[in-house]
Amino acid sequence: SRVRVCAGTGCLAGGSARVKEAFEVEAARRGLALGVDFRAETTGCHGFCEEGPLVVAEPGGILYRRVTPSDVPEILDALASGVPVQRLLYKDASGKVCPTEDSIPFYAGQDRQVLRHCGHIDPRELRDSVRAGGYRALGLALGMEPEDVVKAVSDSGLRGRGGGGFPTGIKWDSCRRAKGKHRFVLANGDEGDPGAFMDRSLMEGDPHSVLEGMIIGAHAVGARKGFLYVRAEYPLAVEHLNRAIAQAREAGLLGRNILGSGLDFDLEVCRGGGAFVCGESSALMASIEGRAGEPRVKYIRSTERGLWDCPTVLNNVETWANVPLVIPQGAQAYRTKGTDGSPGTKVFSLVGKVRHSGLVEVPMGTTLREIIFGLGGGVLGRGRFKAVQTGGPSGGCLPEDRLDIPVDFDRLVEEGSMMGSGGMIVMDHRTCMVDVARYFVHFLAEESCGKCVPCREGLQAILDILNDLTQGRGRPGDGRRLEEMGRALSDTALCGLGQTAANPVLSTLRFFPEEYREHEEQGF
Ligand code: SF4
Repeated sequence: SRVRVCAGTGCLAGGSARVKEAFEVEAARRGLALGVDFRAETTGCHGFCEEGPLVVAEPGGILYRRVTPSDVPEILDALASGVPVQRLLYKDASGKVCPTEDSIPFYAGQDRQVLRHCGHIDPRELRDSVRAGGYRALGLALGMEPEDVVKAVSDSGLRGRGGGGFPTGIKWDSCRRAKGKHRFVLANGDEGDPGAFMDRSLMEGDPHSVLEGMIIGAHAVGARKGFLYVRAEYPLAVEHLNRAIAQAREAGLLGRNILGSGLDFDLEVCRGGGAFVCGESSALMASIEGRAGEPRVKYIRSTERGLWDCPTVLNNVETWANVPLVIPQGAQAYRTKGTDGSPGTKVFSLVGKVRHSGLVEVPMGTTLREIIFGLGGGVLGRGRFKAVQTGGPSGGCLPEDRLDIPVDFDRLVEEGSMMGSGGMIVMDHRTCMVDVARYFVHFLAEESCGKCVPCREGLQAILDILNDLTQGRGRPGDGRRLEEMGRALSDTALCGLGQTAANPVLSTLRFFPEEYREHEEQGF
């Protein structure tokens, strides 16, 4: 028998390391041979963070929630008797006991493709990853011509999961064709959105899937060196990635002549300094080069002149982790999930005033209602749904009458929001939407690098009005002024941060204009 103890950051914070230790101590006390009669394994994030620390007991796949060290003897008794510990099992809204992941609505409505190994393997062990199918796609890709790998990714319709949704295959093809002696592949793991932890959980829970995608990408575009840019606030992700890289090197999956294919490629982790703007492509590359993390003008394409002015492919870590899904099944099979314009699945971090906060993965095109009310269990406590913010601090807030829109890159933009990297913050009827806009604009004004005037000065001017509105100093016409300034900022800012910084204001003005009017009147 064995237990899988979640060691994602959420469960670790809840004390899961002590739970695992308690299993080992108690098993030894009972005379069980560790590793033979009983194994206590560590896994990455299971996603059901609200209910952590989580433990899955095998055989049977029984999911125990909110486990403490004092629960361990009972769980071991249950493993011996085959009768689960009822009080530690999840109950749904009707009170029905759901003993396994499959029977819990939070998991049952998901399609975990990118997260397929998270919660199932020990992310610190290459052999676990390989046993679960890791690096099979690499073996297949190395047997293909680089052009065919690019074509497979292009045909799959895979779009960048970091926010922009740019077609990955076009990026790869452009880099491959660009002139240059050296080429680079980069992974963006600088997830800075408040409330977002998709990339962190992936890097912590299945680092080899990201590495595998990058090695396949290197083969496709002809790169010999890659960097994973990870924010310094993610120490566990950095540790797991570094360990995965060392193990991959030892196994001949990185370094010279990978798997005898002739491909020479190596990877390095580069820790970010915590600036939100370093998630922007050109600022990220400047930071890796050792320069100040400031964006540059966009007429220079990084696929032609990126890192150290060499052709470079930069993809978000979730995009890289999708690549090993494309190669074995082929582009057409990959496209069977998701929508025509946004194939595949997407990972979201579901947080805020929602009953089950955590990490969910669903096919693109799933509605907001299914995600928030189906998987998330609806609004927390006695609250009523008011809005959901998608797309991180530069995203938009969508009201109740937009709950049935299918979530994909294009539809969210049509509604004045965006996919972003996949953060989803639920708000209830007590939330003031002007205050929400002020919170996000304040965050972005703090994070603005100050290089261009519209963002440096314009964002501050927008923030001043929002401060006045939320502190009882509103004036008639503030809403109109905010709209004008927001549109001017979107049109003139240098980089994506400034171009989208007004989204929280513009979307709340669009869907909740009465709240702005109320604040304007309070000033008199
Ligand atoms: Fe810097 Fe803002 Fe200009 Fe981007 S838009 S370059 S973050 S000042």
